[in-house]
Parts: sequence; C-alpha cells; structure tokens
Amino acid sequence: MLPARVRFAPSPTGYLHVGGARTALFNWLYARHAGGKFILRIEDTDAARNTPEALVAIYDGLRWLGLEWDEGPEVGGDSGPYRQSARQAIYEQHLRTLERGGHVYEDHGTTRFRSPRQPVTVNDLVCGAVTFERDEPDMTIRRPDGSFIFHFVNVVDDLEMGITHVFRGEDHLSNTPKHIELFRALGGEPPRYAHIPLILNPDGSKMSKRDQGASVQSYLDAGYLPEAVRNYLCLLGWSPKDDREKLPIEEIIRLFRPENLNRKNAAFDLDKLNWLQGEYARELEGDRLQQVARQALRAAGLPLENFSADYIDAAIQTCQGKFRLGSELPAYAGFYFTREVALDPQGVEKHFIPENREKLQRTRAAFAACEPFTADPLQAALKATATDLGVKAGVLVHPTRLAVTGSDSGPSLYHLLEILGREVVLTRLDQALAHPGFCR
Ligand code: GLU
Repeated sequence: MLPARVRFAPSPTGYLHVGGARTALFNWLYARHAGGKFILRIEDTDAARNTPEALVAIYDGLRWLGLEWDEGPEVGGDSGPYRQSARQAIYEQHLRTLERGGHVYEDHGTTRFRSPRQPVTVNDLVCGAVTFERDEPDMTIRRPDGSFIFHFVNVVDDLEMGITHVFRGEDHLSNTPKHIELFRALGGEPPRYAHIPLILNPDGSKMSKRDQGASVQSYLDAGYLPEAVRNYLCLLGWSPKDDREKLPIEEIIRLFRPENLNRKNAAFDLDKLNWLQGEYARELEGDRLQQVARQALRAAGLPLENFSADYIDAAIQTCQGKFRLGSELPAYAGFYFTREVALDPQGVEKHFIPENREKLQRTRAAFAACEPFTADPLQAALKATATDLGVKAGVLVHPTRLAVTGSDSGPSLYHLLEILGREVVLTRLDQALAHPGFCR
C-alpha cells in the first residue's frame, strides 16, 4: 500500500472557521495515524476573493491547534509551490492531456469537460457507496478569462501531489462524481474519499462562517487552550466508540480510523467545549501554565515587563487550577501587576465598614512586625490577631483580601501576601484604611 498522503486545501477567503479546522484536523489525524504526510495546499485561484489576511489566519490557526503540515507553504526544502496561483503551467499541461483525449470542447469561450454520462459510484469511507446519475450539463473547467474552475485544479493537484485520501466536508460529496470523471480522463486513480458530516448550530441550521463561535481566532482571543479546542473538534464527527470525551491527542491518533467517523451531522455544543476547556485548564502546570497565563495577562495589557521573572512565576503559580479560561486571569490575578487595586464595590459595601477599622489596623500592625514575611508566619500573625480580638480568622481575612487585591476572592491569601511583599501589602492596607467606608 502507498504511504498515506492527505491534504488540507482551504481557499483563503475569510478567517479559518471551525468546519475548516475540523477538516484539517481529520486529515492531520489520519496522516499521523498512518505514518503518512499532511500537506497544506492553498486553493487561491479565485483572485477576487482571496486576501492576504485570510492566508495568515489559516497558517496561524493551524499552528495554534498544533496541526503542523509536512509539505506546503513556509515549509523548508524543495517541497515545491503549494499555492494554486503558482501552478498555472501544471494546469495548462493537464488541460492538453484532456484535449488530446478528446475530453474537452470549446463553448462560447469557455472550456467544458465532456462527461461520459455514465453513472458514477463514489465508494465513500464514511457515506458508503453512493451512485450519481450523470445527466447534468457538462461542467466548465476554464473560464473565458483563462482562469480554471475549482473542480479541475483540485483534481489535477490531488493527482500531481499523489493524494491517497481526502477527508472533506459532506457538502463536497455531490462534487465527487465530477472529480472521479476528471481523474479517469486524466488517466489517474482517484483517492479514497471520506466525506465528514456537517457541523450544525444548536438550532439545527448548518454552521456557516458567519455564525457566532465559528472562527478559530475567537477561541484564541477568548483564552481557550488549543488542546481543549482540538480535543473538542475531534468529537465533531468522530468518537473513540466508548463514552470517553477527553482523550490525549496521542491516543486519538492511535484510534483514528475513517470507519469510526459518524455519518450523522455533528451538533456544535459550546457547553461541552467549555467543559473540556475547564478540564484542560485545571491540569495546566509548570512551563505550560506559565506560558498560557503570561500570554493572557499580557493580552489584557498588564505590564509584566515591570516585574522580575521570579515574581511573575510565583504569582502565576498561585493561579494553578483556579481558572477555566485564560481571559479570567486578569480579573483573578491582575492585582499582582497593577499599582492601584480596583476595589469591588460590593466587597467595599460589605467589608470596609466602621466596625472593621480597628480589626484591619491590628492586622496591619501584626503584618508590619511579621518576620519573615512569608506565608506561614503571616497566617500565624493573622490568627493570633483574631484570637486577641476574639473573632474568627475569616473576619480579618475578608477585609484584608479586599484591601490588597480589590476582590473578595482570589488566590490563597497568605501566599499572595508573601509574593506582593511587605511594602506593597502595608501600602495597600494603609490606602484601604483611608477609605471613607470605615468612617461611615
Ligand atoms: N478549496 C476547497 C474548499 O475549501 C477544497 C475542497 C477539498 O478539500 O477538496 O472547500
């Protein structure tokens, strides 16, 4: 058997959408499963609709999802041009093959392909055997302006690139008899096709580029983890045939077989994606945690460059397992990196009240005398103060936390105090004690 060669063949006309990313993913999974090659081919023959931004969105989206291609644009070596706009001469050459075989004719300036008009059966790996009658008008393969039509260049490239398997959206199933006719006329063997089910919105309509949540970039911007999005996309038409939904990518690669693809349309389920996101986020640790959190904090405009690497590391460590989406981090841990704390008005209403004034003053004094200024002694200092005042520790914890972080919830109090350091903590407590709420 030939080594598998699969391709993702997007047209750069918009952003990379969920359906396109899923198509790329299934091709990539198959290539990795079969030890074959995953090729990126840019179908940019429609100059009027292509944009450079769309091209960049494809590269960025695939890389973000970890779907590195083995051949294609931007890959080193002599892997040849993988943009259709650079392949005109190849198409001309194959057109001559069709001319020689008498498969084409001119019709008012356009070149048409003469269909053999025999029924064509597509032996699809997902849809099974589907037979199409061939009684439509002959398809155009070249426009009067000399540009080629999608069907022709798509087939020529699959032939030239030795593509063995094509995973693509079910909306292309009805194009496939045309493609098979072209393959035969060119003297080539069609690849095995696997037409994957469409992705539907929760309301049952077909998900299109314009639907909310359809752009891969929107997940990146919202702080989703690529491993969570990728795991989720795998479930849109594939399953491991047991009830697991969260699986390491290595295992999905191992289990991925075209026979395991669903025929049923896949409903896009944001709740499931969010659940997976939460699971992956909770598991983040070490360098990956640092990298994800730094990016989310920087994206929110927090001036990380003003802090030492050790300080940032320690601050982020206190967020481990505590957030679901990267975009929650600035609210959760932004206080580490701001000059002023943004006080939560509800917390102020509740905790910055006259009867807490002395309690906070006493806590401040205990912290000022605390040596060393580290989590355990700080905890002991606060507890001793609570005992002296005859209150529970929680009574001191809430106003203290609010004063130093601005919020009533967040990372472990004593650890965050240690990281902020004595100077910042005392300054923030002083600022809080000057709050008018304490003198109401
Ligand atoms: N450029 C086509 C598309 O984006 C490719 C179809 C195919 O995979 O053959 O739909």
